[in-house]
Amino acid sequence: MPTYSARIIVLKKTKLAEMDLIVTGFNSDGQQLRLVVKGGRKPGSRRGSHLELFCQTDIVMHQGRSSMYTVTEAQLVNPHSGCRLDIEHSAAAAAISELVEVLSREADAEPRLFLLLDAALDTLEKTAIAGLELMVAAALLKIIAQVGFQPNLDSCLVCGQPFEVDRPDTSLAFYFSFEQGGIICADCQAFDQSATAAPAVQPALLSWVALLIKSRFSQLAEFADAEHQSIGHQLLLFARDWMRAQVTPKNRSLDFMLSNSAS
Ligand SMILES: [Zn+2]
Repeated sequence: MPTYSARIIVLKKTKLAEMDLIVTGFNSDGQQLRLVVKGGRKPGSRRGSHLELFCQTDIVMHQGRSSMYTVTEAQLVNPHSGCRLDIEHSAAAAAISELVEVLSREADAEPRLFLLLDAALDTLEKTAIAGLELMVAAALLKIIAQVGFQPNLDSCLVCGQPFEVDRPDTSLAFYFSFEQGGIICADCQAFDQSATAAPAVQPALLSWVALLIKSRFSQLAEFADAEHQSIGHQLLLFARDWMRAQVTPKNRSLDFMLSNSAS
């Protein structure tokens, strides 16, 4: 029976039989793998303990009768154990993993997403609870941009009038359309009936959105604190609405995270 090896990050775990598990893994080649782990729920199972949620693990597997693979060996590479420390970190890591799970369900391989997910989990481990919303917002926006949906923040989508997010005294009102994918100036907003639902946005929020997308996680660490908790919450709501309009309406882990939000 041919065997294959892969490096995965565990996105989801489901009970199969009394002692068995199904693990949804994100392969480093950008594909999603569904894996049967026999005996994975037995107390002390070595394979099971190396395939906890959010772990990065090297596996050996063989193809069973179905489309699923059966794991025969598992060797931990990076446990990301800080992501399972408490309910806040678990919810944050789950919100990111759920988005990657949805994006990788279709066949399109996106190997760069693996590095991004790994970097996001590394970051969450080191982030205090007060900074989790800002970092999850950054991760969601980066992942969505990586698969091709980057919000247009430079100029009006309709007339092209430039918008300078860094200019705080801007007198011109701008609106952000999640459906159309970017900003619309007040003139075009008044003219375009389809954009009437677009909310007016604070230029400061959009400059934060631009910063989250273009910065490395390490550069954002200085903002992941109690002082920036309120802007972090607003950014997470922005990221959720962007995800809903552009990628997927559902992310139950993110809903759970927001329902426990102190902001
Ligand atoms: Zn315009």
